[in-house]
This record gives sequence, structure tokens and C-alpha cells, in this order.
Amino acid sequence: MIYLPCGERFFMNVCVLGAGTMGHGIAQVSAMGGHDVVLRDINQNIVDEGLEHIRENLQGGVDRDKVTESERDAALDRIEGTTDLAAAVADADLLVEAVPEDEELKQKVLAEAEGHAPADCVVASNTSSISVTGIASALSDPSRAVGLHFFNPVHIMGLVEVVVAEQTSDATREFAEVFVESVGKTAVVVEDSPGFATSRLGVALGVEAMRMVQEGVASPRDIDAAMELGYNHPMGPIELGDVVGLDVRLGILEHLREELGERFRPPTILRKKVRAGKLGKKSGEGFYVWEDGEIVGVSGEVEDE
Ligand code: NAD
Repeated sequence: MIYLPCGERFFMNVCVLGAGTMGHGIAQVSAMGGHDVVLRDINQNIVDEGLEHIRENLQGGVDRDKVTESERDAALDRIEGTTDLAAAVADADLLVEAVPEDEELKQKVLAEAEGHAPADCVVASNTSSISVTGIASALSDPSRAVGLHFFNPVHIMGLVEVVVAEQTSDATREFAEVFVESVGKTAVVVEDSPGFATSRLGVALGVEAMRMVQEGVASPRDIDAAMELGYNHPMGPIELGDVVGLDVRLGILEHLREELGERFRPPTILRKKVRAGKLGKKSGEGFYVWEDGEIVGVSGEVEDE
């Protein structure tokens, strides 16, 4: 692995596979961190859209005085888009996959990419829930595999979970931590276990809050106010569930229940909401009623239950 030291910073070649929501964000923060980036997707339109989102985000940063014009231009100069996998990974020191959340797809994409990448390239997955140990097993050298779990929106959120698979070497873990620091984020290192640290804890709080609504302990608004004002959470657990999507929450709970046991059993109230198409903010109703992205009331169904 070749680092180019420049002062106290290390610059590397980063290849991001997938130019969607997370991929373009990871490419953006990598370029802002001084790294040369290749953003690869399966067709040129998606690559172009990803690059356009990056341009818009950086311009937004300039408009809000968070990014200077020269930082914007330098970051854009460091990013190149392509559909050519072999060319994209040929010089990569770090490969980050951000393709859809499907274990077989991730294994296929990474194994193929590994075949074209330098022998010492670190291979990272941005999976939010799949076992990194399982993904790594598809590689010929799984000691170079690691999870780099970024959060959405990538250019705003400060955390990256560094997920250590069974096969991850110490050198790979250390490399991942250095990279996370270089893009201005804070790394937390977690062993590869279901829900990592964030989903497991976040969902535990969210599911208990839903049970409290179901049992009539308090209203959604009061539960959220309790955590916002009493515990300084920026958003209460019921509102957060609506924002993430209740179908997404249900999927994560089912996975964690299977892996970790009954404490993650989805409550009836959540199943009912999802069955009724009340998925939260995106469908206009969940535990709250939403209009134009804002809460305008508490779901009547919830209040009656
Ligand atoms: P997305 O659907 O927005 O983007 C996925 C991209 O991958 C698409 O552009 C698709 O064309 C591309 N793709 C598919 N096959 C490919 C291939 N063979 N090579 C290159 N690109 C390919 O998805 P997303 O929301 O960016 O999620 C990506 C990953 O990040 C998932 O594993 C997801 O669980 C994880 N994640 C998502 C979020 C989030 O809030 N969206 C947060 C954290 C982690």
C-alpha cells in the first residue's frame, strides 16, 4: 500500500463502487479529505447524477460559507466518474462498495473488483446490516476486508463505524481508522455483530418507545419530548422511526430478532402500521401525520390504540 505523506496527512487513491445516495457522499468526503477518487456505477447516467449531486452539495457548502470556492474546485478536480470497473480499481489503495444491501451482490461486486485491484488494496463495505465476515468470505484475501459504515447524509454526519470482520487484519483496521480520520469523521471500532453498535442501540430505544405508545404509557409527542429535553437527543425515538421509515425499522428488527433474540421482537403496533402502508414521513403517516416533510399531527390510529 502506497501512502503519499504530505505534512501530517496521507493521501491515497479511493475507488467508490456505486454512485447512489451513499456512494456519491463517500466520494465527496474522500475528495474533500484530499484523496483522488474514482466513482464507479453500472451506467453513465447514474455516474453523472452522482457527480451532479456532489457538485450541488459542494456549492451548497460554498453558499453557507462552510466550503471555500477553491476547496470546492479542488475537490471536484480530484473526482472522476466511470463505468469501467477494471480502470476504476486499477490504482486503488482503498475500495469502498456502496451498492444495494444484498449480500450476494456485494460479494460478487467485491470479488470481481478485487481481481482488478492492486494486491494490497483495502476492500471496504458500507453495509448497514449485512455481516462483513460473510461479505469478506468471497474475497481471495479476506484479511484486507473491513466495514466502513457511513451515515446519511455523508457530508454532514460525523460518524463512521469501522466494522472488524473475523478475517480483518490489524493493518487493515488501522488503515481504515486513518482513512476515516483523514475525511474528517470520527471512527468507532466495532466487532462484526448484528446491528453493529448504532443500529442495535438505536433500534433498542426505538422499539421500547413503540411498546410504550402501544401500552398507553405516554403519547408519541411526550415520549419524544422526554428524550429531546431530558436526554438532549436531537430527535425523539418515535419521530426518528417515522423519518427512517417504519418498514425499514421493521426489517432491521426482524433481522436482529433472528440473530439476537426476542428482545428485538417487533411490537404489534409497528406491524399494523406497516401493513396499513403507514410507513412514516415518506408515506405521509406513521406514528405522526406528515405534510410537506413536517409533522402536522399525531396519527389518530395511534391515539386510539
Ligand atoms: P442506492 O440505491 O442509492 O445506490 C446504490 C448504487 O449502486 C446505485 O446507483 C446502483 O446503480 C449501484 N450499483 C448496483 N450494482 C452495482 C455494481 N455492480 N457496481 C457499481 N454500482 C452498482 O443505495 P444507498 O442508499 O447508497 O445504499 C448503498 C449501501 O449503503 C447499502 O449497503 C446500504 O445499506 C448502505 N447504507 C445506506 C444508508 C442510507 O441511509 N441510504 C446509510 C448507511 C448505509
